[in-house]
Formats: sequence, structure tokens, C-alpha cells
Amino acid sequence: MEKKLAGRVALVTGASAGIGRETALLFAREGARVVGADLDERGGRETAEMVVAEGGECAFVAADVSRDADCRAMVAEAERRFGRLDVLFNNAGIMDPADDDAVATDEAVWDRTMAVNAKGVFLGCKHGIPALRRAGGGSVVNTASFVAVVGAATPQLAYTASKGAVLALTRELAVVHAREGIRVNALCPGPLRTELLMRFLDTEEKKKRRLVHVPMGRFGEAKEMAQAALWLASDASSYVTGTTFLVDGGLTAAYVTPEG
Ligand code: NAD
Repeated sequence: MEKKLAGRVALVTGASAGIGRETALLFAREGARVVGADLDERGGRETAEMVVAEGGECAFVAADVSRDADCRAMVAEAERRFGRLDVLFNNAGIMDPADDDAVATDEAVWDRTMAVNAKGVFLGCKHGIPALRRAGGGSVVNTASFVAVVGAATPQLAYTASKGAVLALTRELAVVHAREGIRVNALCPGPLRTELLMRFLDTEEKKKRRLVHVPMGRFGEAKEMAQAALWLASDASSYVTGTTFLVDGGLTAAYVTPEG
């Protein structure tokens, strides 16, 4: 069977862990040559080694997605190393432990969260879209979150606002670039069993409380997000652009869950 990303070059941010790592591995299995970018160099090199150990191609670039020069450099590296860019997965994100409601959240937490989660996506697109144009079109996938579409009584105001910004800019970019063969979609994961969330849900009690809201009664896996990113990245989703693609175990569909 033809691989789903045969001949494609994909740039994945946040590639050192979680969704980014699993997506780098899956994209490479599906024939893509992958550039992984992340702040965490050790994890990033490990991801690249994992891809290569499976027979794939992957290069790692150290990058802080909140910095213009780093985003320019990661896109340039994809084109220098593999000759083109077809898929841009703006996935890097942070959740600050001090992020709270409007009263309790420090301005610095707000600024850093917006800089990575929202500006990082903007800068990825600022430098990535010209490269996709040079390749004759392509697919952009931006990682948002289910928190961008429903409110929670356990607030993380900066994080939620940053992910709302990702949805808004995804829609606008999708419309702007639709006739250039560039599709732009947002992936909205539900609560996942990755480092990002488990750092907060560090007791069985906290985990159980969160799962009450998930109809499927379990956390999602980074591998499941990678499958969704693959679909959005590949030609299988050729008529899909500007969408808020919820992969959340039914969370946002629920009013009352089986656990009540
Ligand atoms: P993770 O913490 O396992 O991975 C995130 C990666 O992003 C890390 O490798 C980290 O080093 C990198 N990163 C952080 N700041 C960066 C920066 N400034 N520049 C470059 N890289 C940076 O988390 P994950 O669960 O894989 O999260 C990936 C994305 O999914 C994030 O955007 C996150 O907000 C989103 N998300 C996660 C969940 C969840 O429950 N885990 C739910 C919804 C959305």
C-alpha cells in the first residue's frame, strides 16, 4: 500500500516528547522525511534517533518557537536538508503551573504562555507558509485544545486564551490560503496521558476527578493524536480546511457522562 506521506517533508514542533514525538515517528513510518524542532535538545535528538532506528529520516533543530529567528531557522533547515516543506505541524505548547484565573495569574505567566502557544503558531506560519508555497501547496496543522471550546471551573486562563487564539488564527489562515492549495486545520486534543497534563494530575484522586468528564472514561494517548495529525496532514483530508478537529473521547459532546 502507498504510504500516506510518501515524498513529503514535514516539520514538527514540540518533537522531543508527547504528541510531537509520536507524530514524528508516525509521519516517518508513512514515508515523510521529518524535521523535529524543540527547546529540549536531548529529547529532540532522542526522537530523531528513534526515527532513524526504525529506518526513517529525521533531523533535529533546537528552536524556541516564540522566537522569530528560531522559526525562520527551523524552516530553512527543512528546505536545506530535504529540499522542500509540505507539512507544518505547529504543536509545541506549554501549560504553566501558576496559570489560574484572572485575579491570580501573573502578567508574566500570561505573556510567556501567549508567546509560546499563540505567537509560536503565528511565527511557524509566518516562515512556514512561504516554504509551503514554494512546494506548490501543503498542510498546516496547529495544536489547540478542547479547552478552547468549553470553560472549566479549574481555570488556566492564559492557556485557554492562547488555544482560543490558535483556533481563530487557524480559521483565518485557512480562508486566506485556501486557493493556494494550503490547508490549515486545528487539532484539539482532549486530556492526554502525556507529561504536560500528568504533571498536574499527580494523584489517583485528581486523575479520577478529571475522567468523570470524559465519556470514554480514559485519557487519550499521544499516539492517537499522531493518527489525527496524520489524517489532517495527508491527502486523505483534501477537502478539510479551517476545521476545529476535536479528538477528545467525547468530552465536548457531553453534558452528563456515564459516571454522571
Ligand atoms: P509535552 O509536554 O509532552 O510536549 C510538548 C513539547 O513542546 C516538549 O517537548 C517541550 O519541550 C516543547 N516546547 C515547549 N515550549 C517550547 C518552545 N518555546 N519552543 C519549542 N518547543 C517547546 O506535551 P504534549 O501533551 O505532547 O503537548 C503537545 C501540544 O498538545 C501542546 O500544544 C499542548 O498544549 C497540546 N495539548 C495537550 C493536551 C494534554 O492533555 N497533554 C491536551 C490538549 C492540548
